[in-house]
Amino acid sequence: LLAVEAISRSFAGHTVLRDISFTVQAGESVGIIGRSGAGKSTLLRCLNALERPDTGRILFEGQDLAHLPEKQLVLLRRKIGVVFQHFNLLSSRTVAANIALPLEIAGMPKAQRQERVAELLHLVGLEEHARKYPALLSGGQKQRVGIARALAANPALLLCDEATSALDPETTTSILDLLNQINKTLGLTLVFITHEMDVVRQLGHRVLVLEQGTIVADGPPADILKPDNALSSVKGAGYVA
Ligand code: ATP
Ligand code: MG
Repeated sequence: LLAVEAISRSFAGHTVLRDISFTVQAGESVGIIGRSGAGKSTLLRCLNALERPDTGRILFEGQDLAHLPEKQLVLLRRKIGVVFQHFNLLSSRTVAANIALPLEIAGMPKAQRQERVAELLHLVGLEEHARKYPALLSGGQKQRVGIARALAANPALLLCDEATSALDPETTTSILDLLNQINKTLGLTLVFITHEMDVVRQLGHRVLVLEQGTIVADGPPADILKPDNALSSVKGAGYVA
């Protein structure tokens, strides 16, 4: 589904991503871990073409996100949903209207939009909260809205940047269950960043370890997170005991 080929990115002479390559198969769930400042968010923004790499290619469904004209990116981005740590909901819109926003922008007719929003509210378990404003929701409920909005246009890939970092452990578990369900039942491909090893273990088929902009390990969580792993970004960041 996704092939990242030797991408690099610098900001004002400071290299943040260095020659990164990996692939993601359709249906896979891939975690990205590493210390703060390792370049995880920058990498994820490149996958959605919110950021362009200086060199390299990012092939998504056969098209190169790194070089596609902005006009075509607008269409392609609908196939890539993004979930944020701080939800990024619009406070002036109800739950239903937040979820409907990407569909409105895509020009979907109102009746069809309402039908799709109802489906999404059901999927994330928020039917009873459709008319509420985000300020009245708990963190977990806000993230459910964020996930429903990200899924609205029926993407092939879902990117999550620390989707559970602002949530308590119990709420984290319920959001992970939802993301697992989305991955397993809908077959949606996930790429997620996290600082929590439990998230990697529960959600990831594979984990990439980023250290100073370079991938230093790529494999199953059980191998990467085993207690004798000597990688400093795994040990130092507290991913292993
Ligand atoms: P965290 O775990 O704290 O979220 P991260 O691994 O997501 O960290 P990034 O946000 O990707 O790290 O940032 C990596 C480095 O790139 C940092 O040193 C950051 O200051 C720098 N950086 C990111 N975006 C920009 C930008 N637009 N302009 C300048 N520097 C940037
Ligand atoms: Mg980050």
